[in-house]
Amino acid sequence: MTEMPCPGIRVLDGETVNRIAAGEVVERPASIVKELIENAIDARAGLITVEIGTDGKEISSIRISDDGVGIPPEEVLLAFQPHATSKIRTAGDLDSCLTLGFRGEALASIAAIATVTMVTRTRNADAGFRITISGGQVTDQGETGAPPGTSLVIGEIFFTTPARRKFLRSLATELARISSVIEVFSLIYPAVTFRYVLNGQEKSASHGGRTLGEVLRSLRPAEADGMIPLRCEEGGIWLDGYISHPSLFRQTPQRILLAVNGRVITSSRITGAIRSGYGTLIPSHSYPVVVLMITLDPSRIDANIHPTKREIRVSGEPALLRVITNAVRKTLQGLNLSHPAPAEHTATLFDETGSSGPAPTRYPAPDTPSRRVCEATLAGYRTTTRQLRQTRITDAPDHPVHPAFPALEYIGQVAATYLLASSGSGDLVLLDQHAAHERVRYDQLKQQQEQGCPSQELIVPVVLSLTRPEHDLLAAQIPLLAEEGFIIEPFGGDTWCVRGVPVILGRCEDPEAIREIITGALDAGSDQRLSESVSRLVACRSAVKAGAILTHDQGEEIIRQLSRTREPYTCPHGRPTMVRFSRERLEELFRRR
Ligand code: ADP
Ligand code: MG
Repeated sequence: MTEMPCPGIRVLDGETVNRIAAGEVVERPASIVKELIENAIDARAGLITVEIGTDGKEISSIRISDDGVGIPPEEVLLAFQPHATSKIRTAGDLDSCLTLGFRGEALASIAAIATVTMVTRTRNADAGFRITISGGQVTDQGETGAPPGTSLVIGEIFFTTPARRKFLRSLATELARISSVIEVFSLIYPAVTFRYVLNGQEKSASHGGRTLGEVLRSLRPAEADGMIPLRCEEGGIWLDGYISHPSLFRQTPQRILLAVNGRVITSSRITGAIRSGYGTLIPSHSYPVVVLMITLDPSRIDANIHPTKREIRVSGEPALLRVITNAVRKTLQGLNLSHPAPAEHTATLFDETGSSGPAPTRYPAPDTPSRRVCEATLAGYRTTTRQLRQTRITDAPDHPVHPAFPALEYIGQVAATYLLASSGSGDLVLLDQHAAHERVRYDQLKQQQEQGCPSQELIVPVVLSLTRPEHDLLAAQIPLLAEEGFIIEPFGGDTWCVRGVPVILGRCEDPEAIREIITGALDAGSDQRLSESVSRLVACRSAVKAGAILTHDQGEEIIRQLSRTREPYTCPHGRPTMVRFSRERLEELFRRR
């Protein structure tokens, strides 16, 4: 990764300098730490120590030492010149550049705004060399005893630029940024040991020579169990990393860590490609937790876009995005992704310490059938039977059982909402009957759409009277709704007549449900969203309801149908369809272990 093209530091020629994205790289202490860690990695260090000193209000010193190749004494001064680098010679070298640095600016910029002392020694030199530069001026230099490698001490940070100092956040925030920089490098470079020392106390230490999985486990033990390894190679693109189980997601993409050829980058397009791979496995507007290392031919990458090098351009990006989406999808496919039962709720509810323990969790009174008296009615039975008949699978070879779906034996219904089942391996599985059937509907709908969405005439057309804005929206969306299988015609004034609906809805659908689907879809915005929104609404409105009392056969049928969907573990909105209490978990709950 860090082979240097040619040894020796040189100042880049003017033309090359002009082609390099210029700008300030040392905005805050954490950016100094980032630049210096990058230098240490480029110097092939195996151990990198970051020591931070504070005076209670501010960061007063940053010390970074490494056991890398060091700098020969005659080049030390040069290293601090603007645009002096050993990593490229000409702009053409950028195409094959595998090092993190190439701009030759970090040391010069840091030495301009602070007091820097560097001590460095190459492996075969007898002694080390020491230099102190303050606000760009050399104040001291000479030979010194030193171990091989390089150390830099930065003090009086931003003393020449008081304005920048003012923009710094609180000490705690700046320290948090630094530890996050160190955490990110420890993940991306698991082979390197990183030590982080704050005011003389070791805060963290990774043990180099490990794999990403091992580092993940040690840095984020709570999360590591929910992470799934992803590895693939396609068309000269290597992907290696971990993606989260769909039960672990966040509202923002902040926990998606991306590195391309060892360089941490941000890319909303790559983030989007990962998100697409999850499809409906997680709620919309949410993101998985990911660490993904991407490796490709350096000539396909342009990191020279932004001074901090966090943005890159990749030639053939659409292919890269496709490979990523497919890899995520494939990794998740074929896994048993049923959501594990969370531990904490049950633990507090059954806490045996009684009154001395924390108050038991109180949940708001549910507006669910469990509180009402449920009575089976013939009408309810018929509705459910009809709904299940519409999704009955007739052509089984086209709908194989999902490879990781557990063999479930149906036990019965709870609160007219949940299906209780046991798996062959002794797990207890609870399914949400509505979410499960909604998934079945959605999957079949998607398959029908792939073959063009057939529509079916209603026995009794449904007349919709709309508000003026709804009327205008509907008029514009008629062709799209027709593609989804709705036949809608004007009926005079602001009223419309729905003559046909997607086959999956059946011939005598509830007028209220049809109204909801059509008016609901009008809010969707773009065409693609409209189609997706219709699919979800159709799936939701036509699925077996929570509160519907089921016969034993009907309960079994829902599970059977679910097992033949492509993504049985969540409903189209990303809610879980089933929650699993493993046999071990049950034993724990009953204090059998
Ligand atoms: P760049 O990393 O873009 O080349 P820098 O200003 O960060 O620019 O560093 C200038 C040069 O100093 C590097 O090209 C490298 O030769 C040398 N250098 C900096 N830090 C180290 C280090 N920790 N170990 C060895 N050489 C270093
Ligand atoms: Mg550098």
